[in-house]
Amino acid sequence: MVKIGIPSALFYYVYYPKWESFFQALDIEVIPSGKTTKQLLDNGVREALADACLPVKVFFGHAISLRDKVDYLFVPRIVSTNKKTVYCPKFLGMPDMIRHGLPDMPPLIDVRVDVRTQKFAIWRAYEFLGNFLGVKKGKVISAFRSANQVHRRYKELMVAGHHPLSAMAALKGNVNLSSPRHTGQLTFALLGYPYNLYDPFISIQLIDKLQKMGINVLTPENVSAKTLQEKPPVLQKGLFWTFSEQVMQAARHFFSSGKIDGAIHLTAFGCGPDSLLNNFIEREATKYPHIPLMTLTMDEHGGEAGITTRLEAFIDMVQRKKRGVRNAQ
Ligand code: SF4
Repeated sequence: MVKIGIPSALFYYVYYPKWESFFQALDIEVIPSGKTTKQLLDNGVREALADACLPVKVFFGHAISLRDKVDYLFVPRIVSTNKKTVYCPKFLGMPDMIRHGLPDMPPLIDVRVDVRTQKFAIWRAYEFLGNFLGVKKGKVISAFRSANQVHRRYKELMVAGHHPLSAMAALKGNVNLSSPRHTGQLTFALLGYPYNLYDPFISIQLIDKLQKMGINVLTPENVSAKTLQEKPPVLQKGLFWTFSEQVMQAARHFFSSGKIDGAIHLTAFGCGPDSLLNNFIEREATKYPHIPLMTLTMDEHGGEAGITTRLEAFIDMVQRKKRGVRNAQ
């Protein structure tokens, strides 16, 4: 059986269930690279360009870890899926960076998706994959349809309150499908790109830490696409990068929802788009002085103790602010 490796980084948190469903329906074995570890990151840091952002270094580490385990490595070049925004250039250049930056890699499956320049671009990409793998068209169509259903269900689970890893487990029947209950006394919006928020190694298990400290955590993936589009974009044209635009719209939704007591923006060291995004989030936050905002920047050096101390101080500040607002009423 042909084996295709999918690095558990970047688009993994958005598309893995869909890709896995599609390839499995074509009788292909799918091998994800699994959890990020210190060793895996060190390998990525050694091979990636020095000025690459942390998630790109992590992606390199995941790709390297699949090197001797698979027949092909799946690294699609997803440019635009909505005609308005494009993905960060690091995503677009990833197949080239892997192909030319890492020796002895298995052949890459690099399919381009750009709905701005091609009609039915998403279907065309899956059709290309089917052809590439020598599968009959009827089987590809049916695999595409069921993969889309899986993707819809995955997104519904996240809008219902799951985060990607629990939604993936729920799809496989490993955890309760019902929405997680929010029982903490404070609710925070955790803002950032999915590959940073949900990679427990990059985020130093931030979601878990906050939940253990009694905080309900809401993330951009918990907001439906419809709700994200309700407010006009912050700039007339919107932010240029797809994930940045999503996070900005989610931030505006959370701040105006009356449901959060604080917000944390998690950024990655070396991220160009985040320098702009963080500025816009800070400006938005100034309209809501009763909701504190903290920015946490993650880099490859970890530093768990420092993060925990900052979280404790932030939670303490949010609690004092909340008490102050209550006393003033
Ligand atoms: S958006 Fe930032 S963190 Fe994400 S890949 Fe681009 S530069 Fe890296």
